[in-house]
Amino acid sequence: TLLDAVIKPDDIHTTFSDIRVNPSVIRTLRTLTTLALAQPEAFTYGILSKEKILGVLLHGPPGTGKTLLAKAVAKEAHATVLEVSGAEFKSKWVGEDEKLVRAIFSLARKLEPCVIFIDEADAVFRRRTSDDDCYHRDLVSQFLREWDGVNGGAKGGFVMAATNRPSDLDPAVLRRLPRRILVDVPSAEDREAILRIHLKDEILAPDVDIAALARDTPSHTGSDLKSLCVAAAMAAVYEELCGGIDATSDIPLVDIRRRKGGKAKRKG
Ligand code: ATP
Repeated sequence: TLLDAVIKPDDIHTTFSDIRVNPSVIRTLRTLTTLALAQPEAFTYGILSKEKILGVLLHGPPGTGKTLLAKAVAKEAHATVLEVSGAEFKSKWVGEDEKLVRAIFSLARKLEPCVIFIDEADAVFRRRTSDDDCYHRDLVSQFLREWDGVNGGAKGGFVMAATNRPSDLDPAVLRRLPRRILVDVPSAEDREAILRIHLKDEILAPDVDIAALARDTPSHTGSDLKSLCVAAAMAAVYEELCGGIDATSDIPLVDIRRRKGGKAKRKG
């Protein structure tokens, strides 16, 4: 049910310190969304009262931290997240589209302050064309209607949409998302910070050089780097349990070893 998509602030364990992106991304997000969610009264007066902030579009390659950012925004503003995946939308809720859209916004109003996070937004908001089945056209129109009923700020839900393909989005949807934030693949410096985030609870072999690892992983996203750390920790456990690295495994191995009993476990 839709209630499965609800994540209460206490159940969100992501903060901005767990994410390394270009600092301007976090600055912009903080100004736009955290303020709008946490201080909605600031948007009821003066010039800001005319400024409807209905949502933000996060765009950029997969695995760069868009989902994490949406959760960190909600956590900081003590807001609930209603997480809906655009790809799931049609298969999971087929035939129930209009009811579902209404339910999302009505639930968001009850849960206020609430971030409606739509991942893979291109799957649900792709450009409407005359060849489209009416299902798709109705779904987008219904969403826009509900969205327009939102009074800016936290009232009834703040929409954060994420996509790898912003140019596929319907122009009417894009018009409602004038604030677009690019979350790009990390620089070498960012990769180093991301590796440090994911390895912070690991004890590393003394010769592990995280800066060199970051230099040697160009075009890796945050998600790739996390997989690398998981693979390295798995290799260490495997070595511990089975006394050697599985040479047939496809897992990319890096020279990061967990220590046991105070001694670095090294490949013999
Ligand atoms: P998708 O477009 O595929 O949904 P995404 O951009 O939303 O991807 P996430 O799902 O947020 O990416 O990232 C996947 C995982 O990769 C995260 O849970 C996190 O562990 C790690 N990760 C990705 N980007 C970062 C980052 N910038 N800093 C730290 N960890 C990251």
